[in-house]
Amino acid sequence: MNTDFLQQLGLAPHNPGTFTGMESFSGGEKLESYSPVNGALIGSVTQTTREEYEQVIRASEAAFKVWREVPAPKRGEIVRQYGDLLREYKDPLGRLVSYEMGKSLQEGWGEVQEMIDICDFAVGQSRQLYGLSMHSERPHHRMYEQWHPLGIVGIISAFNFPVAVWSWNSMIALVCGDVCVWKPSEKAPLCGVACQLLFQRILKANNLPEGIITLVNGDYRIGEWMTNDTRVPLISATGSTRMGKIVGQTVAGRMGRTLLELGGNNAIIITPSADINIVLTGALFGAVGTAGQRCTSTRRLIIHESIYEEVKEKLARAYGQLRIGNPLDQHNHVGPLIDTGAVKAYLHAISEIGREGGSMLVEGGVLDGPGFESGCYVKPCVAEARPEMAIVQHETFAPILYLLKYKDLDEAIAIQNGVPQGLSSAIMTNDMREAEKFLSVAGSDCGIANVNIGTSGAEIGGAFGGEKETGGGRESGSDSWKAYMRRQTNTINYSKTVPLAQGIQFDL
Ligand code: NAD
Repeated sequence: MNTDFLQQLGLAPHNPGTFTGMESFSGGEKLESYSPVNGALIGSVTQTTREEYEQVIRASEAAFKVWREVPAPKRGEIVRQYGDLLREYKDPLGRLVSYEMGKSLQEGWGEVQEMIDICDFAVGQSRQLYGLSMHSERPHHRMYEQWHPLGIVGIISAFNFPVAVWSWNSMIALVCGDVCVWKPSEKAPLCGVACQLLFQRILKANNLPEGIITLVNGDYRIGEWMTNDTRVPLISATGSTRMGKIVGQTVAGRMGRTLLELGGNNAIIITPSADINIVLTGALFGAVGTAGQRCTSTRRLIIHESIYEEVKEKLARAYGQLRIGNPLDQHNHVGPLIDTGAVKAYLHAISEIGREGGSMLVEGGVLDGPGFESGCYVKPCVAEARPEMAIVQHETFAPILYLLKYKDLDEAIAIQNGVPQGLSSAIMTNDMREAEKFLSVAGSDCGIANVNIGTSGAEIGGAFGGEKETGGGRESGSDSWKAYMRRQTNTINYSKTVPLAQGIQFDL
C-alpha cells in the first residue's frame, strides 16, 4: 500500500495531537489510528491533556480579541486562501480520508471538494452578514439589528465525515468572526492533524494570532471538557443521538448554545409512477455508499404494493453485482466498516431482524480471506420487514436496507415519519400531486425532503440538518451563519428629547 500521501500532508508516524494554532504539544497518551482498509497502523497522535486544553482555550480567547476586529471580508480572504491550499492538496487529503475512514477514494476526494466549496461559499458570505433595519415608533430614532461573533466555537465531529463537517462549521464561523476549537473523532485523528497543519500555513503566511483555528485530540472526555466549558458559547456536535442527548443537556445546563447533527433513519417512498432506473440508482447508492455509514444513508424503502415484487427482484439483482473490497481501488463499490465494533453492531442488527420476524432478501455476513484481513468488510444486505419493528426504528450504522410495503400515500408518509429520527427523506414519483403532498405540511417531517433524488448527501448551499432525534441543527449553506453569531438590536436617538416607552412621563 503506497502511503506517500502521509508525507505529502506533513504527517509523521507519531504526531502531536494538540495545536494552539501554531504551537503543538505531545504531552498526553498515545492514540493510534488503524486503517479499516487493511488493518495497518497508519500513525498515532497524542491525546490532549487537561493542561494542554487550557492552553488551547487561552490561545483561542486571545485570538478572538484580534480576529473579531478584522473586517469580515478580510476574514473571507483568509478562508479563500485555505480553499486554494485545499485545491492543491485535494489528492493526498482525499486519500487520507479514504484510508483512515474507509470510504471510497472518489468519496474521499468528494469530501475535500465539499471543503473547497464551503470555503467559496464562506468567502461570499463574508460580505453578506446582513442585519435588518426597522422603523422606530419614536420620532427621530433609528433602530436596526446587527450580528456579532459569539467567541469560541467548539466543534465535535464524527468519524464518517472526518474533514468536511469541520469545514462546514469552521469556515462559516471564521468569516463570522469566531475562533474554532476542533475535537475530531478518535477514530480519525490524523485527518484532524492534516487539516490543522494546512491551516497553520495560512496563519503563518498572514501573520495571524495562533489561536484562530486550534485542535484537540482524544476521546469523549475531551468533548466533555468542551461541553462543560462556559468559555465556549457554542458547541456544534455531530454524531450519534446518544452523544447528542448528553451534549445537549450539558450545554443547556450552562445556558450555552448547541448545533446538533445526529443520527438519521432515512427512507425513500417508491410510488407506482416512479422511474425504475432512478429508483434503483438512488436506493443502491443511498444504501451501500460509504458502506451505509452516512447520516443520510437510505435505511428504508417504502414501496407501493403494486410494484413491490418488481422492485424487490431488480434490487436483489443489483445487489448481486456489487463489488466489495479496498475502497482505494476504484473498481470497488463498497469498502469496509470503520472498525470491528461496527461489524458487531451490524451482526447484532441482522440477528434482531430474524428474532423480530423479518426475512432476508439479500443475505449479509462478514468477509474474510485475502484483501479482507482488517475484519471490517461486510456484505450489504436487504431485509423484508415491518415498520414498527424495533430494529427498523433504530439507526444501525451499516449497509442494511429494510423493504416495507404500503397501500396508499398517506400510509407511506406515516411510515416515513414514524421513526424517532428526522434527517433525510425522498419520494420517487412522476405524479405531481404525490410529490407536492410529500413536500407539503402534511408530508415529510424531515430536515431534507427530495423528489426523484435519493436521501444520501446534500449540496452545501442548502441548510443541512434534521428534526426530532436528529437534533434540530442547521449548518452549511442558506442562513446557517446566524447560528454562529449573536444578534443585537440597536436604537439611536438623534432628537433633543427622550420619549419614554408606553407614554410614561418622567419630568425632572
Ligand atoms: P459518536 O456519537 O460515537 O461520536 C461522535 C463524536 O462525539 C466523537 O468525536 C466522540 O468522541 C464525541 N463524543 C462521544 N461522547 C461524547 C460526550 N459524552 N461528550 C462529548 N463528546 C462526545 O458518533 P460516530 O460513531 O463517530 O458517528 C456516527 C454517528 O454520527 C451516526 O449516528 C450518524 O448518523 C451521525 N452523523 C450525523 C450527521 C448529521 O449531520 N446529522 C453527520 C455525520 C454523522
